[in-house]
Amino acid sequence: MSRNDTKVIHIGDRVIGGGNPILIQSMCNTKTEHVEETVKQILELEQAGCDIIRVAVPTKEAAEAIRQIKKQIHIPLVADIHFDYRLAIAAIENGADKIRINPGNIGTRDRVQAVVDKAKEYGIPIRVGVNSGSLEKHLIEKYGGVTAEGIVESALDKVHMIEEMGYDNLVISIKSSDVLMCVKAHELITKQTNYPLHVGITEAGTLTSGNIKSAIGLGIILNQGIGDTIRVSLTGAPIEEIKSAKLILRTLGLRKGGIEVVSCPTCGRTKIDLIGLANRVENMVTEFDHMNIKVAVMGCVVNGPGEAREADLGVAGGIGEGLLIKHGEVLRKVPENELLSALREEIIKLDQEKNETV
Ligand code: SF4
Repeated sequence: MSRNDTKVIHIGDRVIGGGNPILIQSMCNTKTEHVEETVKQILELEQAGCDIIRVAVPTKEAAEAIRQIKKQIHIPLVADIHFDYRLAIAAIENGADKIRINPGNIGTRDRVQAVVDKAKEYGIPIRVGVNSGSLEKHLIEKYGGVTAEGIVESALDKVHMIEEMGYDNLVISIKSSDVLMCVKAHELITKQTNYPLHVGITEAGTLTSGNIKSAIGLGIILNQGIGDTIRVSLTGAPIEEIKSAKLILRTLGLRKGGIEVVSCPTCGRTKIDLIGLANRVENMVTEFDHMNIKVAVMGCVVNGPGEAREADLGVAGGIGEGLLIKHGEVLRKVPENELLSALREEIIKLDQEKNETV
C-alpha cells in the first residue's frame, strides 16, 4: 500500500494519507504543564517548519495544560499517553487533535474502549504506536526474539481490537532503533493495512548518529512510497529534528521549496573560514523557505566558480576575501567578513526578481 493509497485522516486542520504531502512532526521536550515554556518551543518549531507537535501527558496537570497551549499555537497537537487511560480521556476533553497510545500498556479492554469511545465522540484520530522495546512476550517467543514480523503483528492486533470497538480513525507507528528491522517492519505492514503510517527511527541517538540512522531508515522507507508523517528522533534540541526532516524530504524530492546549500569539504587550498561560513549560510537561508534555489559555498577560486556555476548563487573563497557568483557569473569581490551579508542581499534580490517575473 503506497502512501497514495492510504486512508485519509484529519489531524486538526491538517490532512494526511491518500497521497497528501508528508508532514513533519516533532515532540516538545518541555514539561507540558509549563505552558509558557511549551508554547514558546512550539512557536519556534512552527517557525522552523514543524507541521504537527506532540507533547507528553504523564499527569493530570499536563492534560489540562493542553487547553491553554492550544489557544496559543497554530499547528495540531498530539497528546502522548502511556499507562493511564484517564489521562487519554482528559487530553481529548482538553482539545488534543490526536492521541498517541500503545493500547498494550493502557490496561484492560474496558479502559481501551473508554479511550476509543472518547476519541470517537470528539472525532479525533488515534495513533496506535508500537515500539520494539515493548513487544509482548508471546510475540517474542513466537518469532524467537524481537523481529519485524512480531512488531507488525503486535501493531495489527491492536488496530483490529480498536476496529472491533467500532473505530477506524487511526494512524499506525511501528518503531525500532534497529534501522533495518524498522525498514522491514514497514515493508511488511504496508502490505497488510491501508492506515497512514507515522515513520521514525526510535532512540536513534545524538545529532550525528540520530541523523545518520534516520536518514538511512527514513530514506529507504520513504523512497518506497511508504510513510505519511515523519519524525527524526534526536537526543538534542527538537528544532534540529525539523531541520533534518526537511532536508530528508527535500533530498528525496518529496518536498519542494527552501534553499539548498552545497559546500565543498575544504582542503589545503582553503584560505577562509569556510566551515564557519557554510554553517552561517545554512542558518541564514532558513528564512527563505519559500524560495527554491541552490547556493554554493566553495573554498577556493580553483574549483569554486566552476562548482558555483551549477548553483543560482555562490561564493568562492580567496585570501581574506571571496568572489560572489550569480548563475556562474562573477558579480564582485567581497571581503571575507562581508560574504554572508552580501550573499543574503543577493538572495533577497533574486527573490524580488523572481516575484517580478511571476
Ligand atoms: S573547492 Fe577549492 S577549497 Fe574546496 S575542496 Fe575544492 S579545491 Fe579545495
